[in-house]
Amino acid sequence: MDTSEHRHDGEAVATVDVDRTDLAYRAWLKEAVRKVQADANRSADTHLLRFPLPESWGIDLYLKDESTHPTGSLKHRLARSLFLYGLCNGWIRPGAPVIEASSGSTAVSEAYFAKLIGVPFIAVMPRTTSPEKCRLIEFHGGRCHFVDDSRLLYEESATLAAQTGGHYMDQFTYAERATDWRGNNNIAESIYQQLRLERYPEPAWIVATAGTGGTSATIARYVHYMQHDTRICVPDPENSCFFDGWTQHNPLATSDCGSRIEGIGRPRMEPSFVPGPSTG
Ligand SMILES: *Cc1c(COP(=O)(O)O)cnc(C)c1O
Repeated sequence: MDTSEHRHDGEAVATVDVDRTDLAYRAWLKEAVRKVQADANRSADTHLLRFPLPESWGIDLYLKDESTHPTGSLKHRLARSLFLYGLCNGWIRPGAPVIEASSGSTAVSEAYFAKLIGVPFIAVMPRTTSPEKCRLIEFHGGRCHFVDDSRLLYEESATLAAQTGGHYMDQFTYAERATDWRGNNNIAESIYQQLRLERYPEPAWIVATAGTGGTSATIARYVHYMQHDTRICVPDPENSCFFDGWTQHNPLATSDCGSRIEGIGRPRMEPSFVPGPSTG
């Protein structure tokens, strides 16, 4: 771009300044993406463990252990995908806080990634969240912001983002689309790679419970994409509305008391819970 001719003109000078800010942001973005990718590159895959069943049953059962990530949180993979999605969409900006509505695990991993790229992190959580979770978030440099009524988590997060000029990550909307479902070392590709030398490399069933719904959607889409015959089972715990919402085709299904199992089951049909891929 030739701006020299127009340098006497205030507007053109402003354009040059915008270019400079843009360049600084592009350099920051590139470095932030590199740091998140480098973290993945340093990390080993999680184990697929064999769970012995009586020989006569003729069933081979495996457990995918998602607890062996650097943060020890089951949501490490999700947090990494959400950060990459937010960065590449231009939503996460230098100096601006990342905010998340979380019952704990996602926030632990997100605090880790926020620190890695040098942005502040605020977790919006129910006041009943365990002190241990809060300590872990603070250990990774995050801040905990509590709400008394957990139905207000989402609204409070959006408000906080607007007030601080930050980005509300919104796992319960974006989990299903932040992960590359075609592969790229997602959890489904990892499972199939690890089963490659087993006596049944293509599982009859994969069982995946839903919190955001991201894992079951990713596995189901990958199964269809790879033309596997594997079927997907999504069990839903007591007091979660996913089962009712799914079987009754009701996106407005709710339940008034929370699931008793941390991390799975939700009181409302989250946008990231997509029944379609797992049906059939
Ligand atoms: C989050 C979570 C899941 C489900 O993962 P999503 O991808 O969020 O649906 C399953 N089990 C536990 C214990 C979890 O914390």
